[in-house]
Amino acid sequence: MTDRNDIETLIAAADLTRPAPAEEPARQYYYIKKARQLVKEQSEERGRPLTACSVCFGCQMNARDSEKLMGILKDVGYEESEDEDSDFVIYNTCTVRDNADQRLYGRLGFAGGIKKHKPWMKIAVCGCMMQEQASLDKLRASYRFVDLIFGTHNIFKFAELLCTMFESDRMVVDIWKDTNQIVEDLPVSRKYAFKSGVNIMFGCNNFCSYCIVPYVRGRERSRAPKDVLREIEGLAADGVKEVMLLGQNVNSYGKGLEDPMSFAELLSEVCRIDGIERVRFMTSHPKDLSPELINVVRDEPKVAKHIHLPLQSGSDRILAQMNRKYTRESYLALAERIRREIPDAAITTDIIVGFPGETDADVDDTIDIIRRVQYDNAFTFIYSKRTGTPAAAMTNQVPEADVKRNFDRLLKVVQETARMRTAIWAGRDEHVLVESVNEQNPELMTARMSNNTLVHFPGDASLIGQFVNVHLDECHGFYYMGTMLN
Ligand code: SF4
Repeated sequence: MTDRNDIETLIAAADLTRPAPAEEPARQYYYIKKARQLVKEQSEERGRPLTACSVCFGCQMNARDSEKLMGILKDVGYEESEDEDSDFVIYNTCTVRDNADQRLYGRLGFAGGIKKHKPWMKIAVCGCMMQEQASLDKLRASYRFVDLIFGTHNIFKFAELLCTMFESDRMVVDIWKDTNQIVEDLPVSRKYAFKSGVNIMFGCNNFCSYCIVPYVRGRERSRAPKDVLREIEGLAADGVKEVMLLGQNVNSYGKGLEDPMSFAELLSEVCRIDGIERVRFMTSHPKDLSPELINVVRDEPKVAKHIHLPLQSGSDRILAQMNRKYTRESYLALAERIRREIPDAAITTDIIVGFPGETDADVDDTIDIIRRVQYDNAFTFIYSKRTGTPAAAMTNQVPEADVKRNFDRLLKVVQETARMRTAIWAGRDEHVLVESVNEQNPELMTARMSNNTLVHFPGDASLIGQFVNVHLDECHGFYYMGTMLN
């Protein structure tokens, strides 16, 4: 990653009297400079700084994308605001679950109402949902007040899109079907000073039959190791202590690179960076998780002892229908290996209930795996039909009442086992990263253990961003109350 001062020099050097350069990121530096001028003019017209609000739905990848969007907005002169009654509002959408779609329409209706009294306000919508034709058509037809729409593949062009939007009196729509491009060295605004997500790859090649991600995020492509490592070195120099390496399937990192490198190797390299004290990663596909990776998690003290290993179903029949490419036996063997090699590691998972054709016996198989693996935590989801995926066309959708009944009995086992697992750490001393003041009690601080469990303990806000040692006094279900040591 080019240093912030270098980026600023390159932006300053952009010549706005000439056409924009064709190559990236020089083209975006040109448009950042131009957008600064446009925002400055608007700000002078209003007689105050302009504000921008970013609303993010969905996963950690989207959260990281939103940090990139806010990085550009702040860079071109907006002040960040939490309030949707801002001069610029951007909604970064998710399409993995149906309720995220519905929430977007509700929020857009609200923002459209504000815009009626504030005609200079700009509203943008981007992200996964915009890669779906039906959602795009709906916005074009029923939400005409939206100024800018773009998808997941051209987010790096945000500064350029802003300029087009300012210079147009119509809705600007720019959706790409796919891209191989990865543009480095653009400004980012981090939500936390002490921790940061880092994309190591984009897209997914797995085509699980229920999942829309490969269609909306495109084919898998990895960032060059040198770019990932330079970015993390820059973050460490900026005071970041914990990074989360992000990808839809981090275990297949490195394929297709000029000098291929495995994820296990990349993870070891990241641990060599001074200043970075903890490294997390998300998400692992069970079919690709290698023994080498388990060894790195076991042997590298900086790697968090937490592996998120999405199961989705414990039934071989349903796993095959889901196109997950592993069996319950191979999954169990992997989980057993992790437990054997890294007894302190938390294993968490995702489970879908109500996939087409799922019977009570299939859910029994899933519950059997939950009992055997003893997950430290599990995110259980009711199957949500995503138009355009093979599963959406399956005719044997499960009646809602059956899904609800199975969901409830599965959730009960998940909660029982997660409570039991969480309780086993009582009495230990843990090295934790303090993340925030407790939401309920301002005299308590909230920190995260290596295995991702939260602990609350008396302390003050000066500890935020510090690693401290805490004694785990008492387990309260899924979290701990503790006392700070030293
Ligand atoms: S691995 Fe499967 S569930 Fe995960 S993003 Fe890719 S297709 Fe979707």
